[in-house]
Amino acid sequence: MQKIETFASWIEQSNNIVFFGGAGTSTESGIPDFRSAAGLYQTEQHSPYPPEVMLSHSFFVKMPDIFFDFYRSKMLHPDAKPNGCHTLLARLEKEGKLKAIVTQNIDGLHQKAGSHEVLELHGSIYRNYCMGCDHFYDLEQVMASKHMVPRCPRCRGVIKPDVVLYEEPLDQQVLFRSMEAISHADLLIIGGTSLTVHPAAELVSYFEGNRTVLLNMDPTPYDNKADLLITERIGEFMMKTSEILYG
Ligand SMILES: [Zn+2]
Repeated sequence: MQKIETFASWIEQSNNIVFFGGAGTSTESGIPDFRSAAGLYQTEQHSPYPPEVMLSHSFFVKMPDIFFDFYRSKMLHPDAKPNGCHTLLARLEKEGKLKAIVTQNIDGLHQKAGSHEVLELHGSIYRNYCMGCDHFYDLEQVMASKHMVPRCPRCRGVIKPDVVLYEEPLDQQVLFRSMEAISHADLLIIGGTSLTVHPAAELVSYFEGNRTVLLNMDPTPYDNKADLLITERIGEFMMKTSEILYG
């Protein structure tokens, strides 16, 4: 049996699928992962700051103008469309087969595809809060701001994206729900992630089943633990899987 047929049959036999994904899930939607985006920004702007610095909490506080210049030009992709991976996962959730998506992405593409149970480990560009008064702002309001650093019309506080920056802790509630979902799954699909960023590797280790599918273009430290290892473009591969499942 070909790998894709095995994958499709495992989906058919499962009723508690959990997907764990990273940046590679969105590259076919035209969103580069932030490291390459930051590299590009550094070259274009002659910026001396590496991505880990520009996307850290202390940098955000010290140099919000440079942070937002980078954030606005490279991290926001409001027009990106879901690809074959997002759409298949949304369909599986609708059918009751998929219970949760745990993602390291902040682009909201799973929700755009129609998924509901999306556990966003690193937050979302679609949620923003005033650091002064906690008032909520959506992405449109941040993008409409005439100044580089968006400020709250109520209290003039800086509006911060609800995105987890370096030096900031993850939301413990989201982390806990992710652990729960993964530990109860009967099929774990890991896609588009190198599993090297904390706490990705720790999280997938909570899986107790014997069907782990790893879909990634590049090798990961988890490759030898995968029950099915697929090195193909994830959006395309999931689209082909949809054709097998639904014709
Ligand atoms: Zn405010």
